[in-house]
Amino acid sequence: MKISQMKNLKVNYHLLEACNFGCKFCFARYAQKFPLSFEHMKNAVEKVAASRIFSGINFAGGEPFLIEQLPELIDFAKKSGLRTSVITNGSLLTNEILDFVLPNLDCIGISFHSICDETKKKIGSCSNNGTVLTNERLFDICQYIREHSDCKIKLNTVVNSYNKNELISGFVKNLCLDRWKILRCQSFACNDDMLVNDKEWSDFCLRNGDVDTAVFEDNMKDTYIMINPAGFLIKQSPDEKSYTSIGSVLESDMKELLLQHPLHIDEYKMRYEKSA
Ligand code: SF4
Repeated sequence: MKISQMKNLKVNYHLLEACNFGCKFCFARYAQKFPLSFEHMKNAVEKVAASRIFSGINFAGGEPFLIEQLPELIDFAKKSGLRTSVITNGSLLTNEILDFVLPNLDCIGISFHSICDETKKKIGSCSNNGTVLTNERLFDICQYIREHSDCKIKLNTVVNSYNKNELISGFVKNLCLDRWKILRCQSFACNDDMLVNDKEWSDFCLRNGDVDTAVFEDNMKDTYIMINPAGFLIKQSPDEKSYTSIGSVLESDMKELLLQHPLHIDEYKMRYEKSA
């Protein structure tokens, strides 16, 4: 990307690869099993904020709430002048944890791929013992966030071969979301039998498209800026099956790193404008 484009951007910091769920289409394959120490995580956030290139940071994983100090890290990012968000599978969100994080969060995103518990399990969106985020618990979480904060709520749904025929929009409307992001399953880390063809994708979008806040993404290549758990800026590899490391955020100049990032700035901007 060009220097003139380096302003007001948002970075996704994937703090760890580990997750208590096992979605079969998971993108969190960073070949880096362990997160940085908490001090180094803070350093990475500091570098992001000090660069003045980014106005926002999204904490992701794996499952970021597996990191005990996540509330402290979000607080640190907020105090460093960044808008903050987090993407989670929601399974670890107790009201007590929400009380800790909500004052410093601008947006919380929850991954939720089906309204049927059996389908959630087939997708792998459950813990080892088969515990899922139930529809009722998701509803309660959204209600709690609404009642106790101004934090925006986003839902992410990945359309795949298991949920492709579902009608989810009625349930989603009741959640009163700020955004429902519907993503097409990518061949990144899953078997091809998880993918949906063009017709199945457009049928799902048509069937569920009556939600005002819905946005659809069928191609995500080079439209995200990502830091991996080792603190490296990464990009998708040409084979689209893995990531290539550009350089360490902790050790390099952020502008120099971003110059090597093939960001599709128009698609990138469109996504965030659509979701504003
Ligand atoms: S909840 Fe997210 S990070 Fe965890 S397995 Fe599913 S897609 Fe991967």
